[in-house]
Amino acid sequence: MVETIGRDGVVRMLRGAVEKIRAGHETLSKLDSVIGDGDHGTTMVRAMGLVEKTVTACAAPDLQGLLHDVGWAVMGVDGGAAGPLLGSLLMGMAEGVGGRQQLDAAGLAAVFEAGLAQVRTYTQAQVGDKTMLDALVPAVEALRAAAQAGQGVAAAMARAADAAERGAAATTDLQARFGRARNLGERSRGFADPGATSVSLIFRGFADALAPPC
Ligand code: ADP
Ligand code: MG
Repeated sequence: MVETIGRDGVVRMLRGAVEKIRAGHETLSKLDSVIGDGDHGTTMVRAMGLVEKTVTACAAPDLQGLLHDVGWAVMGVDGGAAGPLLGSLLMGMAEGVGGRQQLDAAGLAAVFEAGLAQVRTYTQAQVGDKTMLDALVPAVEALRAAAQAGQGVAAAMARAADAAERGAAATTDLQARFGRARNLGERSRGFADPGATSVSLIFRGFADALAPPC
């Protein structure tokens, strides 16, 4: 059982997310072409390119600096609404880390809660509004619940990824109340929200990166 993770573990998580988003690029753009402007896959791949570049540069010596640098890069990505939202998640996580270099499951949950709090300063969207919050909120709640149940970091992240996937899938039947999809009204039902789908891919990437090899 992975009890704590530090900077290297978070780098592995981030690389895992990059991989999953790249693999999901076309799906994300297709979803966005139905209820948005079709650029979500491109924006996310661009954002993940910046994540990869930042972690590869290896500039920040500590966990907080790493998350801050990655968040800052993602925040500035060209394109849609997703960049600032995901960038603020990562920047909020950096703040939540403080000076810690190792996180257990409870610490990781607290870091994601700080990230979610930062996202909420950017958007009023709530669960049920068909946005990335529909995947992010249950993922963070599942992480906290798993930590409280005494699960290790890898198992807790796997629970978070499951919750994010359920949340993203559940957006299919919802009507969008934020973002471009809102303009479609009732017609925004029938397809999953692209941003929520991205968040579910990111959490699956995090979880797979921490999963024991066998
Ligand atoms: P844009 O809509 O500007 O083209 P993207 O295509 O990159 O941006 O991202 C669209 C996704 O961003 C949506 O599927 C939704 O999850 C999320 N999103 C857009 N606007 C908001 C908002 N105001 N609050 C929360 N999430 C939002
Ligand atoms: Mg778009």
